[in-house]
Amino acid sequence: MFQAETRIEELISKLREQGYRVTPQRAAVVRVLASSQEHPSVEQIYDSVRVDFPMTSLATVYKTLAVLKDMGEVFELTIAGQSSRYDGCRPHSHPHLICVECGRITDLDIAPVGETCEKVAKRTGYRILHHRHDFFGVCPDCAGDSEHREEAHVGARAQQRLVP
Ligand SMILES: [Zn+2]
Repeated sequence: MFQAETRIEELISKLREQGYRVTPQRAAVVRVLASSQEHPSVEQIYDSVRVDFPMTSLATVYKTLAVLKDMGEVFELTIAGQSSRYDGCRPHSHPHLICVECGRITDLDIAPVGETCEKVAKRTGYRILHHRHDFFGVCPDCAGDSEHREEAHVGARAQQRLVP
């Protein structure tokens, strides 16, 4: 979990640079955000933080998220009809694979979209600020696809640890 530790420290020092007081509860929110590959919702972050800090308020989670989002350090993934999900590991626009059955959200490493952005900018004269590439489908687990199930389980297991 070395990478997560680095990201946690990075976020905490950035918050301090902004003059934000990093209480243990706020640090716990950062910890969940920076170490989770699961793209947790506010409720999931809240539940994880309360394991160690039962007195944490939902407002603390919202406030910490809002500050990090303003700083461009957390990527908010809005999904119609559902609560937003958050990525504190990769704060910039990146493609996601979303299971419409279980709601699992996975980062997708596909051909760089930067080139496409440049093309769009050139063709339209727009200054592209961000982009969305979301792929919706049914994951092998939900589809009962035994051939790909093992793979999905390995991925899911690695992602299940919200808190290291
Ligand atoms: Zn992501």
